[in-house]
Amino acid sequence: MICRNCGTSNNDDAKFCTKCGETFDSKQINKPLGMKWFKFIIYIQLIMAFFLNLYSAYRLYSGEIYFDGTRYLVDQVYTVFPALRYIDMMFMIVSIGMAVLSIFVRQKLVKYRTNAVKLYLSFLILNGLISLLYCGTTSFATGINTFDVNVLRTVVQNLFLFFYSNDYFRKRKHLFVN
Ligand SMILES: [Zn+2]
Repeated sequence: MICRNCGTSNNDDAKFCTKCGETFDSKQINKPLGMKWFKFIIYIQLIMAFFLNLYSAYRLYSGEIYFDGTRYLVDQVYTVFPALRYIDMMFMIVSIGMAVLSIFVRQKLVKYRTNAVKLYLSFLILNGLISLLYCGTTSFATGINTFDVNVLRTVVQNLFLFFYSNDYFRKRKHLFVN
C-alpha cells in the first residue's frame, strides 16, 4: 500500500499511513495515480525547453534580442556597451548547455531514474536563476535596469512548476527506483 499523500510504503492491510496519517479507503486502493503531468513534462515541457533554449542562444548570438536584430541598431548597442557582447556570448553558451540539460533530465525521467525528480526540480530552479543572473549582469554592465515583465514571468513560471511538481512527485517517488 503506497500512500497517495506522501509516497510512504505501508502494509497492504493498513487503514492509515504510518508516516503522515492519511487514511486509506477501498476507493483509493483501486484508483491508480494519474500520470498526465508527468507526460506533459516529458513530451511537451522539456522538449519545448530544448528548442526555446536553442532559440535564445541564436538570438544572443545574432543580436536579435536587441531591436529584432536590426543590424545597425544592434551594432550601436554593442558599440555603446562593449561588455554586452561578452555577456551575450557567455549566456549563449549557457543556453546551449540548458538545451542539452533539458534533454538529459528528460531521459532520466523517462527511465524513472532514482535522482530524476531532484534533477528536474534543480533544472527548474537553474532556469529561473539564469534568467535573473542575465538580468543582473546586463543591468550591472549597462547601468540600465533590464529587469522586466519577461524576466518576472520566467521566474514565476519556474517557481510554479517547481512547487507543483515537487508536490506531484512526492506522491510518486516510489516509481523512481531505476
Ligand atoms: Zn502518508
